[in-house]
Amino acid sequence: MAAERWEVAIVGGGPAGAACAATLAQAGIRALLIEEHERLGGPTLRGETAAASPFSPAYRRASRILRSLGASAVFILGRRAVIGVEPGFRLLTAAEEGGVQEIACRRLLIATGARERFFPFPGWTLPGVIATGAVQILTKQGVLPASEFVVGGAGLFLVAAAADIVRRGGRVRALVDEGRLADRLPPPRLLLTQGAKMIDGLARTLRLLLSGGRIAHRTRLLEARGTERLREVVTARVDENGRLLVGSERIVPAAMLAIGFGFAANIEPAQLAGCPLVFEEELGGWLVQTDDALKTGVDGIYAAGEVTGIGGAEKSLLEGRLAGLALLEEMGRLDRSGRSEIRRLQRRRRRLLAFARWFNRQTRFSETYRANWVGALPEDLTICRCEQVRLGEIRRALASGCRTPAGIKKATRCGMGLCQGNTCKGILQEIVSALEALPPGGFPPPSVRMPLRPVDLGLLGGEGG
Ligand SMILES: Cc1cc2nc3c(=O)[nH]c(=O)nc-3n(C[C@H](O)[C@H](O)[C@H](O)COP(=O)(O)OP(=O)(O)OC[C@H]3O[C@@H](n4cnc5c(N)ncnc54)[C@H](O)[C@@H]3O)c2cc1C
Repeated sequence: MAAERWEVAIVGGGPAGAACAATLAQAGIRALLIEEHERLGGPTLRGETAAASPFSPAYRRASRILRSLGASAVFILGRRAVIGVEPGFRLLTAAEEGGVQEIACRRLLIATGARERFFPFPGWTLPGVIATGAVQILTKQGVLPASEFVVGGAGLFLVAAAADIVRRGGRVRALVDEGRLADRLPPPRLLLTQGAKMIDGLARTLRLLLSGGRIAHRTRLLEARGTERLREVVTARVDENGRLLVGSERIVPAAMLAIGFGFAANIEPAQLAGCPLVFEEELGGWLVQTDDALKTGVDGIYAAGEVTGIGGAEKSLLEGRLAGLALLEEMGRLDRSGRSEIRRLQRRRRRLLAFARWFNRQTRFSETYRANWVGALPEDLTICRCEQVRLGEIRRALASGCRTPAGIKKATRCGMGLCQGNTCKGILQEIVSALEALPPGGFPPPSVRMPLRPVDLGLLGGEGG
């Protein structure tokens, strides 16, 4: 039932998708913006007001662009997830309440953003343990799910989430971070080129510290304890090689534990479309490979934002604009000033990629560190929540000759559940690379199949819609 063929379809209504849509609309191109959530903005801006982030011009710019879309020629298809991409291009989309629709387009921008990464520990599946991103989305909507928190994991986003909790009147009893304090201090060249971001980060850290929140580096979430729900969190110090320092354990009472270990790009729609991928640990792991104009390896498909490298809202906004201009150039609709803007944006993008590399380094650890970390995990630790696969099964599958995450997935069903491996496939890669002493990019990326989201088979087969 493909009714019409759009000039350009954009998958993902975060800063990158919105900036591209606005650029195309200014040039009078009919573009379709498909977003699986009800509201545009991605996790950063959904529910947020720009005024809440005084040091981040990117938020303000993104909010302005989002507001402008309402009155533009862009057609917004909300609450629609793209679940399949076929050559030509045909997009298969599913609505939350049911119904599958096919959409045809000549050109495609994939701007599907990122999701949080997790690393398991005993008790991480207890009620009361929640993603830092989820806490942030709630706090941005004025909801504080508990009054006291422990925040833990790795990376700079922990401070952002903790500061948001404090801003909403909550208390952060402790923030525990696997990383070293020394790695959290930005190199001088980033201080010069990314001043606004650094001030934003400093303001958030001060807010947390002034509220009495304590930040502990090189400290691990050892266990979340409780019977029906979380009661307390056990933390422990670790050495430079990721080994636990015996006797450093500490018990912190907590009603809620917010966890996060950085971000992973939502590459799956691009992967399904046949776009070549690249593994760049310093930009966040598996990414969509693009050239300087954000063209992927498939003619007519572009990628922008977190899918090309985890780098934050400013990089996503810039890349959305750059992809929009590059699309216009491909369509023969760009004048000389547009072409010189492309070159300017490409130069600025290189600076933002330098920030991205520093940002992602905060959540990456050496081979020895990861081997010691994984080596200390218990056999009965749940890895795949949907299929209830435990670490012991993964170790046994490795011992029986399955050497890759794909082989282990087949042997154990790890990643075959309802969430389609969204949470555990990254964990599985980490675990296998640690146990096999291979770099995390040493295996092919996990395979992907249509449908990308769970969907009623009857609807997929053509009943209803
Ligand atoms: C939970 C979370 C919280 C974050 N909070 C912050 C923050 O406070 N500050 C900050 O600087 N950065 C934050 N980030 C990082 C953030 O991703 C970037 O800063 C920036 O917003 C990314 O822009 P983007 O357009 O590339 O992707 P996103 O903003 O992630 O937008 C991608 C959009 O694509 C949609 N999408 C994905 N798959 C499909 C599909 N198959 N079909 C249809 N739509 C789809 C998503 O719903 C999303 O709206 C957060 C990331 C996460 C995951």
